[in-house]
Amino acid sequence: MHETSMRRILSTTAMLSVVFTLAGCEAPESKPITTMQHHTGPQPAAPEMASAEPAAAVTPVETKPAADSTPTAVVEAVSIPSPGAKERSAAALKVHPDDFLAHVAVLADDNLGGRGIGSRGIDQAAAYIAGQYALIGAQPGGDNGTYFQEFDVALGGKLTDEHNFAVDGISMPIARGTDYIPFGFSGGDSFDGEVAFVGYGIVNPEENHDDYAGIDVTDKVVLMLRREPPSWGGPGQTTRKATFRNKVYTAKEKGAAAVLIVNRHDDNVEDRLMRFRAQRSDFGIPSFHITQEMASALLAAGGSDAQASLQAAADEGQNVSRVLAGIRMSGDSGVQKSYTRERNVIGIIPGDGPLSHEFVVIGGHYDHLGKAPTSMMLRSDRSDNTPRIHNGADDNASGTAGIIESGRILAARRPLKRSVMLIAFTAEEVGLLGSKHYVENPTVPLEDTVAMINMDMIGRFDEDGQTLQVFGTKAAEEFETMIARHVSDAGMVLRGSESASGPSDHSPFYEKKIPSVHVFTGLHGDYHRPNDDVDKVNAEGGARVTDVVAAIAYDISERDDRVTYNEVKARAQVSGRRSGVVMGIMPGYADNNVGMAIDGVSSGGPAEKAGMQTGDVITRIGDAKIANIQDYMAALRNNKPGDVVKVTVRRGDSDVIIDVKLGGR
Ligand SMILES: [Zn+2]
Repeated sequence: MHETSMRRILSTTAMLSVVFTLAGCEAPESKPITTMQHHTGPQPAAPEMASAEPAAAVTPVETKPAADSTPTAVVEAVSIPSPGAKERSAAALKVHPDDFLAHVAVLADDNLGGRGIGSRGIDQAAAYIAGQYALIGAQPGGDNGTYFQEFDVALGGKLTDEHNFAVDGISMPIARGTDYIPFGFSGGDSFDGEVAFVGYGIVNPEENHDDYAGIDVTDKVVLMLRREPPSWGGPGQTTRKATFRNKVYTAKEKGAAAVLIVNRHDDNVEDRLMRFRAQRSDFGIPSFHITQEMASALLAAGGSDAQASLQAAADEGQNVSRVLAGIRMSGDSGVQKSYTRERNVIGIIPGDGPLSHEFVVIGGHYDHLGKAPTSMMLRSDRSDNTPRIHNGADDNASGTAGIIESGRILAARRPLKRSVMLIAFTAEEVGLLGSKHYVENPTVPLEDTVAMINMDMIGRFDEDGQTLQVFGTKAAEEFETMIARHVSDAGMVLRGSESASGPSDHSPFYEKKIPSVHVFTGLHGDYHRPNDDVDKVNAEGGARVTDVVAAIAYDISERDDRVTYNEVKARAQVSGRRSGVVMGIMPGYADNNVGMAIDGVSSGGPAEKAGMQTGDVITRIGDAKIANIQDYMAALRNNKPGDVVKVTVRRGDSDVIIDVKLGGR
């Protein structure tokens, strides 16, 4: 019986144990969770939290208890003979839908628990992928001759039990949770420094504003006002300069030892300390929200004017920064982060000849949302608080199957001029962390990486329209014709988007000026829901899409010259099938429970023309309440280009209604 069909009937666990043996690693029983200073459970986000910061994920339901089982997969470099004519049968050069589906079935099986980071299931998935690489003859491309590139990912954290925090120079007693509270992104080591007041702590050349001009804050604890001068963003609006991320990173760049942020003085608003909110991000510097009462005590003791007058001067653009002489603070971040060791899974199909040092990357993420309450993953649906396995069959077991099968085809097409690198990324769902880690720590020189093809959600091919979405058709000068040819050769209809910057693993490569594309079969109602299951995957379509990807990769590999990087300004836009209208925004995470955040606005697009801004949160389109991307797509589906729709957005603390004239595709 054909090996693959034999493989198809093996049960998941049996399959996994076979594959672990193949990959030369132990079936993972568990994996260590390392801890360093921490935090408690997700809290509602403050508007300044850039939309890209999803609350810390729930601690994995099936954490990896302490026994260290890092797969020590030192797989011997298998020598793969160049296939003779015989092996190059038609079957070997095409993806069989059953093989495609077999991978999806293993990866999306309940046994793997939704492949959430920090879970045991994601390790099983990593070992399965490594085993498949070995089976198709790909060589280890990870650390130390293994298939794995390992790195730590913050899982979240909690407030430390033991916490140092002292102020010299004021008599007021200081207590955590009353006078100050660490931010969830607080990090870094202990600090000890003199306190300096730095206005809003912003450098904004457009406004000719620099709160760090004329003051050296090296090793100092900087105290700053929250947000920014109201004149910058307009009524109830703030610019990206006002985000915590921008202000805290600026202070860090200026050499500050710690950051204190106090609410702007506002007669009508009672001063309240923020609640502690667990966060995955670690800004790497101790950061605290403090009360106005504590700030006033520091300013007064430091011989400075009161906050209200300093604030008034700062709002007029004056630089009010000064050292508060004799006032010192010391302590630590007060937050304990927990980390999990995660892995990118990397295989190499070596090229032959003078161009074999150049690589075509075929990639996609293999992690998903794990086991969590739907209410955690879909803020529009708070009804279901029961942790459920998010199987992620389409997102992205399908793309992972595509990586393995396109690798098999390319291995069968050897000799190749250039080498092919297969990368299954981890931690995509929590901020593209796997692909970002790879481009910062490439296992082969990035300058030798000639292109990147990302498969993220290729399991729901649209049989009716036969359409295939490809983002990045202009990311290289040669791509548009090349991609169009291969898509039409496959009997499909290309729905191309020029830009390659978007919410998936091709983006970090494109940002490194590597021509990159994202192949995609479209969003659907099961996106990020527990019922993104195997039985809804279109295996036939997934196999065909993978054939297209393998053909494009082969084309790029066999060219005499490299494809030519091309910069495209406009940002890509994710759209549902068959909706003909364009608003020109990039949907993002909405972490304030009231809407769909805008992660990007396409320059020159309808939204920008109407005045919508990155960071806005769409709450209504016309009378339709918008709680997430599905609602957004549904609301637009009945519109046609040229229609003017009333869009309500939350901006800062207020609602803004904007008339948007929709564009066409
Ligand atoms: Zn995905």
